[in-house]
Amino acid sequence: MNDSQPSRKVGFVSLGCPKALVDSERILTQLKLDGYEISPNYDNADVVVVNTCGFIDSAKQESMDAIEEAMQENGKVIVTGCMGKGSDAEAIKAANPDVLSISGPADYEQVLNAVHQYIPPTRIEGKSPDEHDPYIDLVPAQGIKLTPEHYAYLKISEGCNHRCTFCIIPAMRGDLVSRPIGDVILEAGTLVASGVRELLVISQDTSAYGVDVKYKLEFVDNEPRETRMLDLCKALGEMGVWVRLHYVYPYPHVDKVIPLMAEGKILPYLDIPFQHASPKILKLMKRPGNQEKVLERIKAWREICPELVIRSTFVVGFPGETEEDFQILLDWLEEAQLDRVGCFKYSPVDGATANDLPDHVPEDIQQDRWERFMETQQRISARRLQNRIGQQLEVLIDTVDGDGAIGRCYADAPEIDGKVYLDGFTDTYAGDALLVTITGADEYDLWAEPVYEDDDLESAQESH
Ligand code: SF4
Repeated sequence: MNDSQPSRKVGFVSLGCPKALVDSERILTQLKLDGYEISPNYDNADVVVVNTCGFIDSAKQESMDAIEEAMQENGKVIVTGCMGKGSDAEAIKAANPDVLSISGPADYEQVLNAVHQYIPPTRIEGKSPDEHDPYIDLVPAQGIKLTPEHYAYLKISEGCNHRCTFCIIPAMRGDLVSRPIGDVILEAGTLVASGVRELLVISQDTSAYGVDVKYKLEFVDNEPRETRMLDLCKALGEMGVWVRLHYVYPYPHVDKVIPLMAEGKILPYLDIPFQHASPKILKLMKRPGNQEKVLERIKAWREICPELVIRSTFVVGFPGETEEDFQILLDWLEEAQLDRVGCFKYSPVDGATANDLPDHVPEDIQQDRWERFMETQQRISARRLQNRIGQQLEVLIDTVDGDGAIGRCYADAPEIDGKVYLDGFTDTYAGDALLVTITGADEYDLWAEPVYEDDDLESAQESH
């Protein structure tokens, strides 16, 4: 950096889901390109950006607290993200009248304009591309990432065309807008070239990718690729890294990606937020996907790809849920035998249409159902993980310390699923891929011992 330039530091607070994290990464990358330093704390920063989350009330409160703290510690605050629209934006303004700017999710331009307005950028416009630019040269090709070096989120679209009654994401992020498939493949290639070994495909509805652009055909590296999930999976499956699909709905066309999983092109892992199993509750929720045939579909998928792992989330105590509806859900869980499951008690979100539904379920009944749900699923999950003992699996190492290494196998997405513990094994690094033998399990995690060195993996996999 040129010593004569005054410092231009932007503090950054990133809250919320992986989709918001990707927004933060894009804003940070552009800030770096514009010559700003990113500050890890408020005191040193010339301005602070808070990327908020407005998904549920507790997330909103966390965002409000973060804005308030930034206002107290620094005083020059730019707010963006899911709370930057509608009544949430008004609430932020009312509580913090001196915030410099408020913008909605993925509104990168307004955030950057606001930063430019309060601290002008240092990058010299009109420079020849051959000239050394100290700012651009400091930014890696893959941009600024907030995840560890060995995995990255790949956001393929914005917004959502559904209108689930408990959700305000379409109001915050708008209707589905798919990214061009060429851009997504290019970004994935850059990430892989930078050392990323696992790509996590995210969106609000991955299976709807391309619907908005009528599955537009593009030529990417001379290959014809339609803007649709199957073509994207095929392209990503050629990159030689783990590819994990999140937020998929069980539409019939999802059947077509299962053979890619069976062939080892992409991970045999599907994150499908089922949310409930009672047809009545699903209708009240206005959930997408033909739910009636879901169990048959899961069975057919497992026949094609027996290793398939399914993760899901559910809501109990939704307005109108009777004991009978809940029992349908428990029976469905027993039948579906899902591998990874999260469960939430329904709570109203400001602006969601479900708030107006009759027959809200009292808190004590919600709690009772949540406990019964968790007991059922823990039993299923523990049994499925027990079956893994003795298996050999590839593990991607996330952390290593004096006590050993912690990694994940194909069944575990970062942050939300279980872990594989290699107690006492320290001869490895984050990002290494190891073949391990599973030696123990509880209801969430696995324990393992390494059986091959990194170099041996390929030959081991071939015989697997
Ligand atoms: S599918 Fe439903 S829950 Fe998911 S983002 Fe769209 S409206 Fe919200």
